[in-house]
Amino acid sequence: MSVNRNSGTITADDTVVTVSGWVQDIRNLGGISFVILRDRCGTVQITLPKKKIEPQLFESLTTLSRESVISVTGDVKRSDQTELGLEVIPTSFVLHSPAAVPLPMGVVDKVNTEMDTRLNNRFIDLRKPEIRAIFELKSLMLELLNEVMTKNDFSQVFTPKIVEAGAEGGSSLFKIDYFGRPAYLAQSPQLYKQMLMSTGLDRIYEVGPAFRAEHSNTNRHVTEFISFDGEMSWISSQDDVMRMIERIVDHILKGLRERGKKQLKTLGKEVNVPSVPYPVLTYAECLKMLKSKGMELKDGDDLGTEGEKLIGEIMSEKGNDLYWIAEYPESEKPFYIMEKDGTPYSFSFDLDYKGQEISSGGQREHRYDKLVERMKKKGLVPESFDFYLDAFKYGMPPHGGWGIGLERLLVKMLDLPNVREAILFPRDLSRLSP
Ligand code: ATP
Repeated sequence: MSVNRNSGTITADDTVVTVSGWVQDIRNLGGISFVILRDRCGTVQITLPKKKIEPQLFESLTTLSRESVISVTGDVKRSDQTELGLEVIPTSFVLHSPAAVPLPMGVVDKVNTEMDTRLNNRFIDLRKPEIRAIFELKSLMLELLNEVMTKNDFSQVFTPKIVEAGAEGGSSLFKIDYFGRPAYLAQSPQLYKQMLMSTGLDRIYEVGPAFRAEHSNTNRHVTEFISFDGEMSWISSQDDVMRMIERIVDHILKGLRERGKKQLKTLGKEVNVPSVPYPVLTYAECLKMLKSKGMELKDGDDLGTEGEKLIGEIMSEKGNDLYWIAEYPESEKPFYIMEKDGTPYSFSFDLDYKGQEISSGGQREHRYDKLVERMKKKGLVPESFDFYLDAFKYGMPPHGGWGIGLERLLVKMLDLPNVREAILFPRDLSRLSP
């Protein structure tokens, strides 16, 4: 009787095993041939000494196309030549699915395949252990996130992704036809999160897709990403929100370092866990820092990709991977952010990671009149937000929250060059398939 084993999990105690997987490689050396079989756990060598194998079996196994899916049953033998110290001498096999020839791209070839080719053939790309490891880490990240949110008394919620009005209004919304009425794909759960603050669900979080009609092709923008949003009531200031995010990010980074060892090794990466609290720079300080590096920005200007990058370099020289940029000009921030009265600034923050924004948040305006005033100031029509504004009319606690781009956090942690690396099937300006 054979036992079913994953390729990397055969032991010297096994005598007869069945292993299943993809044919990664076949080497024919005359008197002996090798089939390298790969699955989720690694590879195993199927060794075929020509004289000892039944001719039909030898012929069928050694002429398979690469990436065909098979199950092989055979005897386990010790071998000094393999990483596992073991090999399988086959007695039978089943061909489940032959792979067509040629492959659209290689799985183990040492050539650097263009990102477009990789994404066009993502099902093959994901057969590479180092690519799969990214998504195993992403899954672990979710596990850690749920853990830390539960520990901090947050309830997980799900808000609609088909909406009538957008959080910021405007250009980045995808319009859809909803039974003849115009509707939009949600760019953020912002309005619903805030409405929930009026219900007594004091601490909530959501992990879900956010849609943005981003018109530029950059390495950090896609049109659909996973947003991790949180909102909490009864805060005294934005500092309470910042401390909460630090607790969450710290738990995720530590957890990935501990529980993601195998995947990190496959990727050849290490996770650095900065100590909390993270340093805080104000927007005004950032302008001065940029000026000292020759980048002149006016008060009120967006720091921009270049500015963020430059600040990242300055902070990294001081050993700070993660840092806050707080108190942005209110003109730069959406209507729901609270103004810092008597100044042009606001109670807002971004969390930047190695020169890139990964999160933004702040204290929200919970006072109805002020909120309506801010909406008008931003050119929005309050009447079209009645469903939201009503929740502020009948008792709304002070509150604040954040949005974190899950993929941006992951790619920055792993020093990957593009947010698309952390998305199975990315959507962007030019990509709608697969
Ligand atoms: P940016 O200025 O980098 O375009 P933003 O200010 O539009 O970002 P927010 O609206 O504050 O972003 O969204 C919160 C978080 O969501 C961001 O910090 C980022 O991590 C993530 N995010 C926003 N837009 C995108 C996008 N197009 N692709 C991937 N992640 C995004």
